[in-house]
Parts: sequence; structure tokens; C-alpha cells
Amino acid sequence: MTAVILDGKQVAAEIRADLAKEVADFVAGGAPPPCLAAVLVGEDPASQVYVRNKARACEKAGIDGRTHRLPADAGQDELMALIAELNTDTNVNGILVQLPLPTGSGVEYDEREILDAIDPLKDVDAFSPVNVGLLMQGRPRFLPCTPHGIVQLLGRSNLSVAGKKVCVVGRSDIVGKPMAMMLAQKTGSCGPDVANATVTIAHSRTANLADVCRDADCLIAAIGRPEMITGDMIKPGAIVIDVGINRVGDKLVGDVAFDQAKDVASAITPVPGGVGPLTIAMLLHNTLAAAKLQSGR
Ligand code: NAP
Repeated sequence: MTAVILDGKQVAAEIRADLAKEVADFVAGGAPPPCLAAVLVGEDPASQVYVRNKARACEKAGIDGRTHRLPADAGQDELMALIAELNTDTNVNGILVQLPLPTGSGVEYDEREILDAIDPLKDVDAFSPVNVGLLMQGRPRFLPCTPHGIVQLLGRSNLSVAGKKVCVVGRSDIVGKPMAMMLAQKTGSCGPDVANATVTIAHSRTANLADVCRDADCLIAAIGRPEMITGDMIKPGAIVIDVGINRVGDKLVGDVAFDQAKDVASAITPVPGGVGPLTIAMLLHNTLAAAKLQSGR
């Protein structure tokens, strides 16, 4: 079997084009352009690239993308003060703090306290306990960007997981847990076909991981370990979604051994060009949703 390659770049371009039209309509209705404020602390090269890409994507969609930079040793109080300022700034609709926060500058950050301080109505990453709780109860306000991108990719590729076994490897608050929760709901942003799954969450303490993975009709790897999921861990014909982004030498690789997996799976995301581009597209989606929510339009 040779898997269909799920082209996340193409799907993200479609979503962004639709979104640009929606933003134009919103602005034509008399609203100011939606505004996303990104906060970048320190000079981590990967974080700088991510923030720059987000700002560019905002610009292309007609969204006002602002970047607030603080030095690595700014400290908790200064960062909390900036969040408080952005919370009350009525021109700002969405706030994101680029993670990870710096370590090693002699200043420690309490990431949880900072993320909790973001106004839930401006929480476009959907990390706040209120937004996580709403998602858990099946009435989401904002959907977390990476898992939402995966739902969109499955839906727009006409791949159903309803009634099927999905295994999510990884239980982070950013990817694994919300992904599992979204696919276990009765419906979602792509309807009941990209929901209603029987979901297993696997992690570093899962016994017989290979067997657990091989039982899945849809395997979602969000681990952060280069090519850890090998071909023999995949059920023939399964859908394989690779969330991992790992730098190995000068190459980016996923959590799935792509060359082996593509001969076993029925559909698979590449790295790069799979899940990654969708994350930014869904961030723009949430920024427009936040602007609509705040303006009541
Ligand atoms: P994370 O917070 O480090 O979580 C990793 C998860 O993988 C944990 O739950 C961990 O289990 C599990 N794990 C680690 N080693 C394992 C093993 N040997 N067997 C089974 N499970 C294992 O990572 P994350 O933030 O979710 O990110 C995961 C990957 O996705 C990273 O490569 C990251 O760069 C990438 N990512 C990509 C995007 C995108 O837009 N494409 C967005 C976010 C993240 P424990 O809980 O037991 O420790």
C-alpha cells in the first residue's frame, strides 16, 4: 500500500484564503481589522521564526499582527504587567505568549501563572482553564490550534474517524489531551464524522505501546521523538497524523518514520508540510472569532 499524502500546506492555504475573505467582510461591516498581539520573551531562534511566520500570516489575512518583545531576563512581573496591559487594550483581540519561555538567563518564569492571566476572551491559543473546560463539555469557545488543524485536515480530506479507534500518542495540554477530547466529542468543527471516535491516549508509561498503536485505525503521534513510530507499529490501512517537529542535523523530521509508514498507512501527513501549516491557519481563525466575540458582530 502506498499512502495518500495529506497536504497540510494546501489545506492551510485554502483555509487562509477563506479567512481573508471573512476578515474583509468583517472590516467592510465597519469593524477595525482583528488584532493579534504575540509576546516573545528572549531570543530563541525557533521562537523568533514562529512569531515572524505568525505576523506574516496575519498580514496576508488582513489581521493586524503585533509583536511585543521582552528580553530573556525581563522577569515574571514585567511579563505579567504586559499581559495585564494587553488584556485591557480594546484594540487587541487575541493574545499569545510564545512558548517555551526562556530558561538559563537566571530568571525563572511561572508559565502557568502567565497563561492563566490571559483574558479567556482573548485566549486564542485556548490554553486557559475556562476554555479547556468549555471544550471538555463539548461547547468550545476557541479550539486549540494544532488539534483543530488536524480536525480540519481530516474533514477536508474526507477522512472519517467516527466509530473508529483513534490512538493519540502524547498527553500534553497543547496537543495530545485536547486532540483526544475533540475526537471523542459527538461533533466538531467538521461535523460528526471527525468526532465520535473511540480514543486511546498513550504516553511514556503506556505498556506495549507498539500493540496499542497497531490497534488504531487512526494514529496521531505528538511525542517529540524523531521517527519513534516505526512501520511495524502501524495497522495496515490506518490514517497516520504526525504532529512531531524534530530537528535532526539540518533536517526536520516527524515522530513517525515516514518512509516506512507510507507503505503501511492509507493516508499520512509529511513533516514538514503536514500539520505545521494548519496550526497558524487556525490561530488566524481564532483571532477573527475573538474579534467577532468582542465586537458582538
Ligand atoms: P510534550 O509536551 O513534550 O509531550 C510529549 C508527550 O509524548 C508526553 O505526553 C510524553 O509522555 C509522550 N512521550 C514521550 N516519550 C514517549 C515515549 N517514548 N513513548 C510514548 N510517549 C512518549 O510535547 P508536545 O508539546 O505535545 O509536542 C509534541 C511534538 O509535537 C513535538 O515534536 C513538538 O515540536 C510538536 N508540535 C508541533 C506542532 C505543530 O504545529 N505541528 C505544534 C505543537 C507541537 P509523558 O506525559 O508520560 O511524559
